[in-house]
Amino acid sequence: MIPLSDLIDDLHARDAKRVAVQLPEGLKPGTAMLAAALRSEGFEVVISGDACWGACDLALDALADADVLVHIGHTPVTNQENVIYIPFHQDIDVETLASVVPALASFGKVGVVTTIQHAHQTEEIVRWLNDHGVCATTGAGSSRTPLAGQVLGCTYASAKSADADAYLFIGTGVFHAIGVSLATAKPTFALDPYAEGGVQEVSADKLLRKRFVQIEKAKSAQNFGILLSAKSGQCRKDLAKYLESLTDKASIILIREVSEMQLRNLGFDAYVNTACPRLALDDQSRFPVPVLSPAEFEIVLGLRSWDDYAIDEIE
Ligand code: SF4
Repeated sequence: MIPLSDLIDDLHARDAKRVAVQLPEGLKPGTAMLAAALRSEGFEVVISGDACWGACDLALDALADADVLVHIGHTPVTNQENVIYIPFHQDIDVETLASVVPALASFGKVGVVTTIQHAHQTEEIVRWLNDHGVCATTGAGSSRTPLAGQVLGCTYASAKSADADAYLFIGTGVFHAIGVSLATAKPTFALDPYAEGGVQEVSADKLLRKRFVQIEKAKSAQNFGILLSAKSGQCRKDLAKYLESLTDKASIILIREVSEMQLRNLGFDAYVNTACPRLALDDQSRFPVPVLSPAEFEIVLGLRSWDDYAIDEIE
């Protein structure tokens, strides 16, 4: 799974003696094996045990006690010294793409997007689709998504730069595909390469209806907590300050983990999320009161129209 010899070479090149390791939740069961392998090479190991969902949440505090942090699973979203990133790759069989051809062949240009697990195969996927009658392309990487065609739940820059007539998202779930459809306003199809069922066109309608309900609820709020993340790649201070400046009912709250319990204890009537954009869209059902995106807050305050709805992205 992890190219250990390259990692060890890199650690020696940095003259590292004490190494902190951080794995995201889905890969955490591999922590003991990685730590043992590094110890057997003579390194002292510090394990970050806190929850981690992305490279936006680096265990930088572990660096106080280590020479290098090894972050497994993701590509960088911010520039950080003394961090080694080892993205997680999962190969897919490109023949599973056969099911998408009938749905996509009629579009002039189809942009291929995917998550980090499959982004190393984007070129191969585009080539296969072009060989099978789909005019496929892919957009360039961006500062948060360095690989061509790579998307995150907080940025769809590579989809937008493909400037396609339709998009194919390859990966699990439909969240990213819905994000692409909102960010590009183009027909978007999703293919889970490991699931039965083939390709499906996604619609953002259900999500937008739910967001509309939260916006309406928030209109009666007497106070708003502006959530400002303390995480390395989610901290949008300028945005939080701008949102606070829009009304005297708003206060900035510096917070690390946004949980149902924290929001309940803080007791605000509604919150505006400047942390991971997925929180407001994916996790609303967990929260006791509306958690709005920045654009939704502007709609609540009458500064933006519903027709001008925009998905939140981190630049
Ligand atoms: S901000 Fe959210 S979507 Fe973006 S990398 Fe972090 S966890 Fe993923």
